[in-house]
Amino acid sequence: MRKVFVYASISTAISILGSLAVGWLALTMLGRDMDSTAFAICTLCPTAIVFPASAYTYNQRRKVAEVHNRLRAAHRELAAMNRRLAEKALVDSLTGLLNRGVFIEVVERSKNVRKRGSLLVADADNFKQINDRFGHLTGDDALRKIARAIADCTRRADYRGRLGGEEFGVFLVDADLGEASKVAERIRKAVEEAGFVAPDGTPVQLTVSIGVATAETGASFADLMNVADKRLYEAKAKGRNMVILPPQTPVAA
Ligand code: GH3
Ligand code: MG
Ligand code: MG
Repeated sequence: MRKVFVYASISTAISILGSLAVGWLALTMLGRDMDSTAFAICTLCPTAIVFPASAYTYNQRRKVAEVHNRLRAAHRELAAMNRRLAEKALVDSLTGLLNRGVFIEVVERSKNVRKRGSLLVADADNFKQINDRFGHLTGDDALRKIARAIADCTRRADYRGRLGGEEFGVFLVDADLGEASKVAERIRKAVEEAGFVAPDGTPVQLTVSIGVATAETGASFADLMNVADKRLYEAKAKGRNMVILPPQTPVAA
């Protein structure tokens, strides 16, 4: 508001000076001197007209600028919210890993570009019992613990996703069977040693069974998934908490 007063005063002062100059010029041309009446008219008129008019104009301009600033801030907030929503749509809200659709998409893309990689499918063992005994919320915590172990055992460049329920997928970019078996075993061990404790203080043994498939010739995600799934069920049948590797020949297209 002080700014409005200052701007209006400056405008008024300028118009008084202008008005005095024009008045003086006109009176000089008429051969008359600037008397007190002329001086009063040349100062009072601009003050009475210019000051309120410019104060009103500057005040309106200030209000428009304020609205603009608020709009800009709202736009920035909206853009940030959109970015957060887009990020959220990519990840599974429970575990923070990629959701199934995104996981499949990035694996397909990576395979096409690098022509090599290994897929691990890890499924929590006897998970229903954990839910039945400790409740779903504790089951959710256990899933987060498994997801954390998977993330800790893989490189940043690899992809980790929740395929659904208590089943996770890991795609090891460029990894051959040897590397894949090492990482799978590391994940199995990390989950086994995760030390999960239920809210009532009861220690709960978590384990996963893992099926592995490798691709060196651009096999589709479905081909890889089929092989990894078969190995996973073999691991379940053989007693769980183990890694089953694919046949030595990689999955071909
Ligand atoms: P298996 O070793 O053969 O895999 O046995 P399992 O009990 O893990 O397998 P089953 O398919 O019988 O049960 C899976 C359980 O996982 C049942 C389901 O309620 C639970 N589950 C799936 N998604 C979630 C989830 O988001 N949160 C919780 N708490 N439980 C889940
Ligand atoms: Mg299971
Ligand atoms: Mg399952």
